[in-house]
Amino acid sequence: MQNRITVYTGPMFSGKTTALLGAYERALIAHKKVLAFKPKLDDRFGDSVIKSRKFGEIPAISITNLEDLLNYDVDVYIIDEFQFLQGDIKVLLELTDAKGKSLFISGLDMTAERKPFGLMPELFAIADSVQKFVAICHDCDEENAVYSYFLGKKNVDIVVGNMEYIPLCRKCMQKRLTQDRIHEEKFNDR
Ligand SMILES: [Zn+2]
Repeated sequence: MQNRITVYTGPMFSGKTTALLGAYERALIAHKKVLAFKPKLDDRFGDSVIKSRKFGEIPAISITNLEDLLNYDVDVYIIDEFQFLQGDIKVLLELTDAKGKSLFISGLDMTAERKPFGLMPELFAIADSVQKFVAICHDCDEENAVYSYFLGKKNVDIVVGNMEYIPLCRKCMQKRLTQDRIHEEKFNDR
């Protein structure tokens, strides 16, 4: 597991963070020095843990920039919600190539607008392995959801929190977008 960049990506509810916690556990079993990191702005589950919805939680250090990683010297770096981090992607190469560290990273590949998310495309380019996960589609129950659809804008009554996003497959996303467009046009006609 040395000297590699491994990436787990996909939409919300696809099991990325669970895979990340698995890597954390394996690093501990292999008696490696390991630390977990997450972006400062991701405070869904409090300030100092990465929590998987299915499994437990691990302590995490909140950072803003990739450069912050250079302040810590461990064998294995675990990073969650990478899409929210800023900085120079070359920092990761410094850790792997120059220092022989291992990186396990998870993050959303696309925004709710289906655009590449933050530094994720650059991360894919330099990674040794990129594993794309799918979620169960909210609308058709097929295990083929690649998008995170944002409910917040249209439905004011939706409960704030994780339920603001639902995973959708390509077909159901298209349906929702078409419905939104019709809804929008009706609204604008009023
Ligand atoms: Zn679907």
